[in-house]
Parts: sequence; structure tokens; C-alpha cells
Amino acid sequence: MNRMALVRHLCAHPGLSRSDLAEAVGLTKSTVSLLVRGLIEEGWLVEREVVTTGDLGRRPTPLFIDPARLLLLGVEIGIDAVRVVATSLTGELQACVISPHATEPTADSCIASLAAALLKVRSQFDANRRILGIGIGIPGSVDADRGVVQQAPNLGWHAVPFAALLRETLRDTPLTGVPLFVLNEAGAAALGEHEFNPGSNSNPLLYVSINQGLGAGVVVDGRLLTGSRHYAGEVGHMVLQHNGARCSCGRRGCAEALIAAPLMPYLPGNPGALEPDPQALNSAGRHLGMLLQNLATAYDPGCIVLGGAAMTVGDSFLQPALDVLKDYATAARLAPPTVRTSRFGAHAVGIGAAALARHRLTRPTPPLPASGGLSTDSKESA
Ligand SMILES: [Zn+2]
Repeated sequence: MNRMALVRHLCAHPGLSRSDLAEAVGLTKSTVSLLVRGLIEEGWLVEREVVTTGDLGRRPTPLFIDPARLLLLGVEIGIDAVRVVATSLTGELQACVISPHATEPTADSCIASLAAALLKVRSQFDANRRILGIGIGIPGSVDADRGVVQQAPNLGWHAVPFAALLRETLRDTPLTGVPLFVLNEAGAAALGEHEFNPGSNSNPLLYVSINQGLGAGVVVDGRLLTGSRHYAGEVGHMVLQHNGARCSCGRRGCAEALIAAPLMPYLPGNPGALEPDPQALNSAGRHLGMLLQNLATAYDPGCIVLGGAAMTVGDSFLQPALDVLKDYATAARLAPPTVRTSRFGAHAVGIGAAALARHRLTRPTPPLPASGGLSTDSKESA
């Protein structure tokens, strides 16, 4: 617990010294020195040389999360493919493998191709590069505590014990026992923007993901809002129009039906890709502006981040959304909320899933059952 408190603190505040850390987390300097020595040996932390200037004399050595040794794996389960990335502990992309689904992916076929892709990425690194954890982002509602996919309508999955099945498939491979963490894809991408962006003042951070479906992740004070039944962030089913277009959920006028569905023909990889219809893009964009206005009113976010395949459509979709937000703000004599696109582009969910692994490993909540390594280490040193 104490070790991870130090790591977590350095994630958010890189460059602190041992005595800064001792003060920040409320431990003695000698305890911090002991724990830091272990964390440096294991590859979590690194010391950087201090440039000493004559006048100031010797200053305390700054500590950083080590970007060179330990690895995280992040997975995006997409509608069309499985994407696996390896990142450093600080979120730099180190490797990527994309494995397209052959046909409609069942949970079993998807887990088999995911395991193969994970092992392919693993094989690109020396055996002595330790992999700390595997995060997985799934387009659906996920019970993250149990690693169970409750509903993934665009994949046709229902009540899939994803973590348990994957753990079984990875048994007796080089990834045996590596802790697994499963989450909704927008939640994972939101954690990526939060974890791998130290010093940002985006609290709450609201990530809106627009693909075939539409969802959001909300990070408040460094924690992802999950809701009482793991449905928080399902903003694609906020109703924007009474008796509007029919949505996949059975209701009418949902944001997903008015924003994501009309974009589908224009997204890359769509076999029947059409010539863009400016009016359809404009209408989808204006509805996105309306949705963001409602979300901004609900959460007062420090920043709204947009991501997903819909970003490839570009300004003919995004500009109308920003225009609508500005109109609403002007009418209320307020500044419009800050909106930007994801820092990780097409890797937003994969890198976000790697961030999910770091997020969970460095917080004192029990990992999923039967995961190895870290929880034991933490207990020993606590
Ligand atoms: Zn709906």
C-alpha cells in the first residue's frame, strides 16, 4: 500500500525528492528511502541527475516514474478488430498488434485471437522485461470488480465472464498470472487522458467516445465514476429528441441514434462507404453540441475530450458541435466548456486500457481474484 502510494504520488507529481514524498504521504524519510530503493531496483522509479549549481549546492535528487523498464499492455476490443498495445509506465507506445475479427466475433473466438495478439506483443520484448498488468476496454457495460461484460450490444454479448475466460486461455503462457482489468472502452480512454497527462487541471475530465456506439467516461478527483450498476457514462442513451429516430436500445431520439448512427456510412473500414453528405454531418454535429451542452451542465467539466472513429470525419462534423456549444454559452453569458480531441488518436482506448492497469495497480483496491505478483508484494512491504 505504501509503495503504491509513493508511485501514485510520483505519477501525478513527477520530480519530487524523497523528503517531498515523505511529507506528501505522511511516512518517515527513512521508510520512504527504503521503499524507494526497492521501487528503483524493480523498475518502477528512476533517479535523475541534479544539475548542481555552485550557489545552491547539492539539491535533493528528483525521482520519476521509470519510462524505460516495466511494461503495461492495453487492449481495445473493437467491433472490427482486437488492438493490443504495449506502453511504458508513463504511457509511451512501445508496440502494437492489430488482429481483425474473421467473422462476427463470439466471446470465445475474440478471446482466442486476443490471447494470440497479447502473446505476439509479449514476444517482441526480452523475457526479462516485466509486464505489470493487462487492461482491456470493451464497447459495453462492464462489471469491473468481477471482470464480467454485462452487455455489449454491438458485439452481441451478454453476461460474459471475460477476465476469467482470458485468464484461463493465458494459463501456461508467458503471460500467466499477469493481473487483468476490464472496463468499458470510454472509461478506459478517460483514464488514459487522466493518468498519462500529469499536471493537467482537467477535473472533472469528461471523455466522449463516438464509434458505432456512443459512451462517456467521467473522472472525478482521480476516480472513474462507475455508477451503482456499472451503467454510468452510457450517455449515448440520453434522449435529445422526443419521438426522434429509433435507437438500438429500443427508445427513440437517443444521442446515439442522432449522432453515431448517421455517421456510420462515413467511417473508415465501412464496406459501403458513401460520399459524405454535408447536411447529415452537420445535423449529427449539431446534436453532438446539444449532448455536450447537457453533459457540461451536469458535470461542469474542466475539459471535454472527444475520441473514437468519428474523429476521422473531421471539421464538417465537429465544427457544428462547437458552434452549438458557443451559441448556448453566449445565450447564457458564460464561457463555453473546453473541448479537445484525444491525445492518443486511434490508440485512445488501447493506451487508455494500459492506463487502467496502472490506475488499478497503484490504488489499494484488491485486484481481480487469482491475479499474481503485485498484491503480494504490496502486502509484504506495507
Ligand atoms: Zn438508445
